[in-house]
Amino acid sequence: MADEALLHVKDLLEDVKLFPVEDFLNKFPHQLSGGQQQRLVIARAIILEPQMIVANEPVSMLDASVRIEILQLLGRIQREYNLGIIYITHDVSTVRYFSQRIFVMYGGTVVEQGEANELVKNPKHPYTRALLAAISDPDAQNARRFKDVPPGEPPSLLHPPAGCRFHPRCVEAIAGRCDAEAPGLSGCSRAGSRCRGSSVPGSPRPAIPPPPCRRRRTATFPPRGQIPLRRRETRGCARPDPAPAPP
Ligand code: SF4
Repeated sequence: MADEALLHVKDLLEDVKLFPVEDFLNKFPHQLSGGQQQRLVIARAIILEPQMIVANEPVSMLDASVRIEILQLLGRIQREYNLGIIYITHDVSTVRYFSQRIFVMYGGTVVEQGEANELVKNPKHPYTRALLAAISDPDAQNARRFKDVPPGEPPSLLHPPAGCRFHPRCVEAIAGRCDAEAPGLSGCSRAGSRCRGSSVPGSPRPAIPPPPCRRRRTATFPPRGQIPLRRRETRGCARPDPAPAPP
C-alpha cells in the first residue's frame, strides 16, 4: 500500500476509534467484535468523503451498551465531516436521540413527518403511535403486560389496499372514507400526518372491523408460582431403568 494511502487509512481508523491502529490493519472481519465491525464499516463509508450516508439498521444487531457508542460515533462523524445521514430503522427509541427529523413510512408511503422530539411527544398517525407503543419497556413491573399492537399484517406493495393503506389495521378507520380515498399529507409542509382521523378533530369514526389476527395475544398469565410445571420428557433416551438394589 502506498504510504499516502496507508496514512489515510490510519487516520480514518483513529477517527472511528479503532485503537491501536496497527492492531487492526491486518485483521480479518471474523477477528473483530460486532462493534468493531460497525466502526470499520463507518470508516469504509467515509473514506471517499461522501456528502451523504444511508445507514440501514446500523445498530440493530448490536448489544444495547454498544448501540449508543456507535450512534454517538455516527453523530460526531456527521458533524466533523459535514455529512447528511439517512438513518433507516424500525426502532423509534434510537431514532429519537439520533435524528433531527423523522419520516414514518408505512406500505411504501410517508404517513407522518416532523421534528423528532415533537413527533415522539405528539404522534398523530395511528401507525406512529403503534411504533411508539412497541418500544421495549425495561420496567420489570410491566413484564406481564401485553402491548396493544395493530392486528393484521403489512400490506402487499404490489396490490396495496384502496384508500388509506393502513385502514385494514386501523382501529380509528372511518368506514366509507378511509377505505375509499387516500388521505393527503395534512399539516404544514414540514410537519404533518397522512391520517384523515387526525386531520378532522372530533369527526365521527364508525370503525371498520379489523381482520382477525392470529398473532394478537389476549391471554393472561397465571400469577407467579401457580404456573404448573411440566415434566421434562426424555425423547428417544435409551437410559435403562435403575437396577434393583441387591438383597
Ligand atoms: S386515514 Fe383513516 S384508516 Fe388511515 S390512519 Fe387515519 S383514521 Fe386510520
